[in-house]
Amino acid sequence: MSLARPDLLRRLNERRVLDLVRAAGACSRADLTRRTGISAPTVSRLVSALLEAGVLEEFDAVEARIGRPSKQLRLVGDRAQVLGLTLGVHETRLFAAGLDGAIDSKSLHTFSTPATYEGILNELGSAVRPLKRRARRTLGLGVSVPGLLDEDQGRSLFSPNLHQTDGQPLAADLARVAGMDVTIVQESRALCLAERHYGGARDLRDFLVVDIGDGVGVGIVLDGRMVVGRKGLAGEFGHMTVEPNGPRCGCGNRGCLETRCSNRAVLERAEQLYGRPITITEAVQQARDGDSRLLAIFDDTLPWLAIGLASLINGLNPEAVFLHSPMLDLGGDVLERLEELTRARALPTSMDGCRFVRAQGCKDQGAVGAAIERLVSARGPLLGTA
Ligand SMILES: [Zn+2]
Repeated sequence: MSLARPDLLRRLNERRVLDLVRAAGACSRADLTRRTGISAPTVSRLVSALLEAGVLEEFDAVEARIGRPSKQLRLVGDRAQVLGLTLGVHETRLFAAGLDGAIDSKSLHTFSTPATYEGILNELGSAVRPLKRRARRTLGLGVSVPGLLDEDQGRSLFSPNLHQTDGQPLAADLARVAGMDVTIVQESRALCLAERHYGGARDLRDFLVVDIGDGVGVGIVLDGRMVVGRKGLAGEFGHMTVEPNGPRCGCGNRGCLETRCSNRAVLERAEQLYGRPITITEAVQQARDGDSRLLAIFDDTLPWLAIGLASLINGLNPEAVFLHSPMLDLGGDVLERLEELTRARALPTSMDGCRFVRAQGCKDQGAVGAAIERLVSARGPLLGTA
């Protein structure tokens, strides 16, 4: 009878099982049967296949509910791993994680993002080898990428701050040099994945992650789903015009939101002040140490950011806005002041009950999350090979 089941149904059921194990951390076959409504023999067959494929592992634990030992299932730990790559405008990070998403900080390898596309591929090719030797199996690489991506085709279309990747078939090229399956995810969506799986958005259906980096990106989850748009390009609110004749933006337009409140906007002014290049980490530190001129530069970005946030809240009606910004390391009441400035502009009914929260997740977790989601959603030939 089981042989007659369509392959698609089996895969959907496998995905439900994996999703449940992943969300619960650990559970028994009986838990899976109860929560999925799939019959016990079918759950048993699915679990056997997932154990054999090396995605799940079994361990003994005392189950509190019944007060006696039971066989529990969890995603495999150290025998299999995924890799994550966070491609940044200045710095790129490569690291390994277990299938539970826990990143091994000792595996972290960072390098300055090469100025050429070939350079990026070469750096990855040599950095990935020692990481692959850490575990028996490496099941894939998730990559967080800035700019406009066609995630389905694995292609970078246009990156206002990382032009060397423009038009490149990033996923296929990275897969070739890394020797494994590659999933690319736009960096703001990586933050949404991180917030949903490892941060404060686990139970939320409508939320935004606003990422202040070299640009300003927005990840949007509405009704429990990531909003991607017709060509996968949704979320580019950093290029919303807020000042018709404002400064020139990396996209070619003038007066985009990000020309007023990105890290880059802050650093351009900070560098004039100091007469030398300065990193955002140093700028935050100097402001924390009492440089009031730098503090004022950071403060100047808040009213602009509030304009953007009010438009997002009016337009999308989220229950929470997660802010990912080094500015939050300034301490004090930055988030509260931003919320007040936004409240003064947003429609009161739209703003009512919308929480402003510091993002807990990071792009590294999002890159790993993308690789794991891929495994869970498309378990197939990839996992069939040892
Ligand atoms: Zn722009």
